[in-house]
Amino acid sequence: MLVLSVVLPGALLGFYAMQSVFQEAALARQVRSQQCHDLAAGLRAELGERWHRQQDQTTSAILRQGEAWASRPDEALANLRTTSPQVLVALVFDSEGQPLNPQALSSWSSVPQTGIPVLSATIRSSTGDLEVRALIDPLKLAADLDELLAVSERVHSDYSFSLNEPSAPPPSPVRAYADLSMAPWLPGAVIRVATAKPRADEAVGGSLGLVLRVIAISVLMAVILLGIAVITRAVAREVEVARLKSDFLSSVSHELRTPLTTIRIMAEMLSLGAVPTEEKRSEYHRNIVSEADRLTRLINNVLDFARIEDGRKKFEFGFGDIADAVYEVERITGDYARKEGFEVTTELPDNLPPVCFDRDALIQALINLVANAVKYSDERKYIELGASLTKRSVRIWVEDHGPGIEPDEIPRLFERFYRGGDHMTRQAGGTGLGLSIVQHIVDAHGGSISVDSEVGRGSRFEIILPLEGPPNGASSETRI
Ligand code: ADP
Repeated sequence: MLVLSVVLPGALLGFYAMQSVFQEAALARQVRSQQCHDLAAGLRAELGERWHRQQDQTTSAILRQGEAWASRPDEALANLRTTSPQVLVALVFDSEGQPLNPQALSSWSSVPQTGIPVLSATIRSSTGDLEVRALIDPLKLAADLDELLAVSERVHSDYSFSLNEPSAPPPSPVRAYADLSMAPWLPGAVIRVATAKPRADEAVGGSLGLVLRVIAISVLMAVILLGIAVITRAVAREVEVARLKSDFLSSVSHELRTPLTTIRIMAEMLSLGAVPTEEKRSEYHRNIVSEADRLTRLINNVLDFARIEDGRKKFEFGFGDIADAVYEVERITGDYARKEGFEVTTELPDNLPPVCFDRDALIQALINLVANAVKYSDERKYIELGASLTKRSVRIWVEDHGPGIEPDEIPRLFERFYRGGDHMTRQAGGTGLGLSIVQHIVDAHGGSISVDSEVGRGSRFEIILPLEGPPNGASSETRI
């Protein structure tokens, strides 16, 4: 149920949140790659324009020499190289295709020709058409490109610009980039535009920003899941308390009705003179008294519980004799216990010093423990009441030889309304308030209570009270 209502929606939510972070990062990277590509394309277009301008200037410079290419080709070439330094060498061919400046052929063939642009221009002359072919120096264009890259880097400081070989390895995986070939103007040259440093939104894996967002989502998910779990737990607890309260109401009504019915029937029989022997009559009287005691205990517990719940319960502490209080408990519960067939023994040392405690409250707590011992014991009907002295505290215990308590029930025994045991023990009746009241009383004394129990052996409840009383002062009134 918890998996379906909490873990599954939480996990799905987390999965989609993470997925959207990664998708967003991939998208941002795509956008940045496109921006890199656009910048590279702009540079390529600019370079192309410069190349065309250079071509046009060179062609005009060739044409300007006119007839000189036929009559004085060497001089024409020298002039051309002066006005257009990007020209490495030029050859002039007559209409038959014969070179008119064969001595330039050696310089032409000394230049490595791979990919170097060749410009060709036709000159109309009186002796027929001449063709001038010029080799353009690619380093001049490359220098232009270098300058363009430097300018671009200044303008777009978020990006880095470089001139690479086509086989250059990609930059670090967290940077978006685009490579664009500069052919045909600069064959073999590739411009690379890359993001200067990775941005948190585009770094898929590895960037601090992404890691932080993933951590933030994980923490958020954990908090949400924790919140849901806490709320689910709280709601479950409230439902459990509501159920216990409703059980409590029916137990109280039942617990009130039983002794009242007994008292009524016995009192009626006595008043009608329907009890024949004196022995029976005194038994009926004892029963009426013990059932009235039971009623009083129940009502006291319910009233005390109400006082504790709304903080009205008051304690009156004073130094007194613990042994005396224990004897009083034996006196109050003894008759009732013996009537039920129990043997009650007490074990009290002589050396108990005066202890600071609320006598009535402690007696009430011990009565609750003895009443439980009587209520839950079946065959072995022995109850021991005792006290002993330790260095700074006094221990008071109530031990029975009843059915004992399952270990997993022990931590819940002192919760309000909690009723444990099996079907048989529940038949003994009760409201689930007795031990929670004992716990309140012991807490108000600054003491503690422990249970030592084994199924089939019996139970021992031990109250430990500090000799000097509660921490907030002796002989005072304490509200809990
Ligand atoms: P109630 O006795 O009215 O049910 P308590 O708060 O006094 O409520 O006790 C809580 C539960 O602890 C009981 O329902 C019972 O299961 C268990 N319990 C208390 N005392 C004993 C005992 N002496 N032996 C066995 N079980 C006990």
